[in-house]
Amino acid sequence: MDRQQEFVLRTLEERDIRFVRLWFTDVLGFLKSVAVAPAELEGAFSEGIGFDGSAIEGFARVYESDMVAKPDPSTFQVLPWETPDGGPYSARMFCDIAMPDGSPSWADPRHVLRRQLSKASEAGFTCYVHPEIEFFLLANLPDDGSEPEPADNGGYFDQASHATATHFRRHAIETLEAMGISVEFSHHEGAPGQQEIDLRYADALTMADNVMTFRYVVKEVALTQGVRATFMPKPFTDQPGSGMHTHVSLFEGDRNAFYDAEDPHELSETGKAFVAGVLHYAKEISAVTNQWVNSYKRLISGSEAPTTVSWGRANRSALVRVPMYSPGKASSRRVEIRTLDSACNPYLAYSVILAAGLKGIEKGYELPPPAEDNIWQLSDSERRAAGYSQLPQNLGEALAEMEKSELLPEALGEHVYDFFLRNKRVEWDNYRSAVTPYELRTLLPML
Ligand code: GLN
Ligand code: MG
Ligand code: MG
Repeated sequence: MDRQQEFVLRTLEERDIRFVRLWFTDVLGFLKSVAVAPAELEGAFSEGIGFDGSAIEGFARVYESDMVAKPDPSTFQVLPWETPDGGPYSARMFCDIAMPDGSPSWADPRHVLRRQLSKASEAGFTCYVHPEIEFFLLANLPDDGSEPEPADNGGYFDQASHATATHFRRHAIETLEAMGISVEFSHHEGAPGQQEIDLRYADALTMADNVMTFRYVVKEVALTQGVRATFMPKPFTDQPGSGMHTHVSLFEGDRNAFYDAEDPHELSETGKAFVAGVLHYAKEISAVTNQWVNSYKRLISGSEAPTTVSWGRANRSALVRVPMYSPGKASSRRVEIRTLDSACNPYLAYSVILAAGLKGIEKGYELPPPAEDNIWQLSDSERRAAGYSQLPQNLGEALAEMEKSELLPEALGEHVYDFFLRNKRVEWDNYRSAVTPYELRTLLPML
């Protein structure tokens, strides 16, 4: 047993923890959990815990359904809240999923990201990310198709009077910090009920785990405050949606490979080629960065979400922004990718972004000129003249782009790629064949 595993066992004993939740993530980005008693952990570390993979979305076909969850002791954290009856705390660890022969499962999103990160490391890079996570707090969570009620009436950066949200953020942040997840900023976002919490940068695998933990913690803390949280990309027709802007940098050892003091954007050739790669593949990775039918309702003009393949410096309508918050500071040079929404699978989204950016570096793609005009205000023909191509406008278009892609089967692995396309085709077909309240409201009285 190694030192980390020993540390886990000792902590469980010292803190009298009776349940350890083993967490992993399915292909669509849902958190799964199996609880084990501490006595089982030694075995779990050496052999893993067996489960029926065919019951997990995207994991296995029935005839090969035996799978094994192997806890990663470096992710051990005590869940910093008591059971409702004041009982002892429990703890969690993220798992890697293996086949019975011990080889990693191709269906495990964590493994997909691990594979991409080892490609980055073969090229000499470590990848750091920090997400700005937006979500809504709601007074209720109706499931009958009616519009929810936001938990407050605040707007961008509002303080005071919105007592619920203020307490909520403090509790959520304390809980996250107690689990080793550092929070950099938090504030009220533009829409009523909308919040944003930005996490301090970490390596991409740790951050994908952190995002999963974040969603769980935020939903739990919301319940304790008498409200509900949702990461749905666009719950309100007339309000902006919830993005997960993601700041990315690549380091070579201690050196930020994206920094160049001489460049007007302080962006190195490596940084530029990375952005060029992300733009080159933006349409084909869209089904992964924006994976739900609802995701495409967010990507519309006028709500600070991108609609075209473009980059810029201060431009908040661009897909990639090169922020200039701390000029001259090499360690903080990064690029902000603004397409991702808060309901993506973070392991897969980071994988495809990294795959696209690394391809840009490998092939030496050229960065087009920056978009300094406000793209939302341009007409379609002006956009075409300026050379901005449209992002997919719905999940169907995004899937068509994904089907043509050579990058995605390589980045996701054939298993996840095929499952994802099959699953999402069904979602799109169900959605496009449904008659909506909009049609009933506008067409029924008229036709
Ligand atoms: N909510 C916007 C989006 O969907 C972002 C708003 C902002 O952070 N400036 O991306
Ligand atoms: Mg924001
Ligand atoms: Mg941002």
